[in-house]
Amino acid sequence: MLVLTGSTWAVEALADVAPVHHIATVRIDPAQNQIDVVDTLTLTAQGLTHFRLSSTFKVSSAKVDGTAVSFSRTQDRLSLRLKGPHTVELSYASRELPSLDDEGGFIDPDWLAQPDDRLATWGIKGSVPNGQKFVVPGRLVDETETDGGYTAQFESLTPSASPILITGPYHVHELMANGVRLRTYFHAELAALANDYLNDTAGYIDGYAATVGPYPYPGFFILSATHPVGWGLPGMTYMGRRVLALPFIRTTSLPHEILHNWWGNAVEVDYQKGNWAEGLTTYQADHAMAEKLRPGAAQEMRQEWLRNYAALPRESDQALSAFRSKTHDASQVVGYGKAAFVFHMLKTQWGENVFNKALQRFNRDNTRKVAGWADIKAAFEAETQQNLSAFFSAWIERSGAPELTLSDATNTDGVRFTLKQIQDGLAYPLNIPIDIETPQGIQRHVVNLVTKSQTFSFATSAKATAVRVDPDTDVFLRLNAADMPPILRDITLDPTAQVVVLGDGVVQELGTELAQSLLQPADPGDGDKTVLIVGLQAPVRTYLAQHHLPAVPERIAAQGDARAWTARDGAGRTLLVAEALDADGLKALTRVLPHYKKRSYVIMQDGQTFDKGTWPAKLQALTVHFE
Ligand SMILES: [Zn+2]
Repeated sequence: MLVLTGSTWAVEALADVAPVHHIATVRIDPAQNQIDVVDTLTLTAQGLTHFRLSSTFKVSSAKVDGTAVSFSRTQDRLSLRLKGPHTVELSYASRELPSLDDEGGFIDPDWLAQPDDRLATWGIKGSVPNGQKFVVPGRLVDETETDGGYTAQFESLTPSASPILITGPYHVHELMANGVRLRTYFHAELAALANDYLNDTAGYIDGYAATVGPYPYPGFFILSATHPVGWGLPGMTYMGRRVLALPFIRTTSLPHEILHNWWGNAVEVDYQKGNWAEGLTTYQADHAMAEKLRPGAAQEMRQEWLRNYAALPRESDQALSAFRSKTHDASQVVGYGKAAFVFHMLKTQWGENVFNKALQRFNRDNTRKVAGWADIKAAFEAETQQNLSAFFSAWIERSGAPELTLSDATNTDGVRFTLKQIQDGLAYPLNIPIDIETPQGIQRHVVNLVTKSQTFSFATSAKATAVRVDPDTDVFLRLNAADMPPILRDITLDPTAQVVVLGDGVVQELGTELAQSLLQPADPGDGDKTVLIVGLQAPVRTYLAQHHLPAVPERIAAQGDARAWTARDGAGRTLLVAEALDADGLKALTRVLPHYKKRSYVIMQDGQTFDKGTWPAKLQALTVHFE
């Protein structure tokens, strides 16, 4: 997602250990970086017990069942002796919280003393000076504003990871929708957008509740952050204030983060067995929204997923069972794009009704638990009454994708053609839609290809004019990147990409920065497949001419004051060229190019994106036109 990095606070399965209940009173003065906490924990423990507590806090007292006890403190650990069920009262404070100021900020969950191996429940009451607001995840049970300041109390009785704490000079707007408390906590400049955000949120929650199951939290809060984050937290999302102001966020990141309340928050991810939540959320939120806003956009999104995957070098590929989180672009191509596509294939094969029922079952059976792909498989098997081992082991346990060819097509007596899976290794179980075009219309068939090669024949009512394999992009395939127009990802995903920076001094520095912002790893390689060429416009064009490389395409040559484009040279290498009239142009490209990796070219003018696009595609490889 543009500008955002997703993150979900989640913990391993700790269901067997009783949670620790916290009754905490928090007093914060963000302008002074001050926080004072009194926390009463109810827990059972034996012997020396270690609590994680941020090293920024000075602990002034510890009492066990009302009696002061000695404790030890090392870095982010507080340790004391316990023997059975106890209430432990801890008082601590910090005068140096750099993440807080009166413009707003957050404190990581280790502000609350908590044993590592336990989940938490809580009632937390926070006070801040007037003009500030205080939020932790949970149900809002009380809220007062007096001359003395603002106080809010939150309760969460569902065992979960310790809560993040957020403050800010927020303007609060609220909408109660079917008993769910929707709120925006926005900085002043966003307040005018609050009602639109609240109304859209109500609509999304209604829609997902109907598709997936009841909304799993008492409220949903949208909080603006001073820094560029995009976090989905239980019952809330925390997003950068600049991002929230962008008009498309309400139809992209917002539904995505709302759906994470089901997928990832209420049904937690068993990370050891693969993160399914990003793919499912991307499919049910982003993919569905795209189609709703513009029919045809969902297929374009699937084509984009395939295009990105085609750019992924085989050695960077991984099985979905190995995907944990979006640590880099390569993992996103698999963990978001391929995973979402797997859900699309399930929906295409079994139909929307069975698909939704299976996911409702998955949600019902796994809410407040950690779940993995095996649980998704179990839910689909229950609804379809089929053994789906072949499908799930091919798509989840195995890296890679089928590579398909269409050959030996004839239309002399009906239609006959051969489909081959030419990838290394076993055949994938594929259901492939086929369109046979005749002067009387299009015949749609679905062929089941479970072997490496199979010939199919169909009777036709008139002489066929064309055969199109997978005309709607419903099958996850590895396309041949060389058959398609180059995009930035062809270079940025290549760990061996070469880098040529033309110029010295400042230009050398800026060119190197640009390369580092795009490549992974950030060090240039010595491969012979891709090259990134960076510099000022005149030297770049001279370099291209001297090395007999393709010149800047005419249609973009004079547009804007900085531009980047992809091309293929005579040796089949893919080039990414970035040129600018001056240093500011190079800086602008460094800032925006990481957001346009799916494009073939980007043009900047005065630091703003002026145009961007993908070079036109050649004819589809899996289509035969008969003479
Ligand atoms: Zn996400």
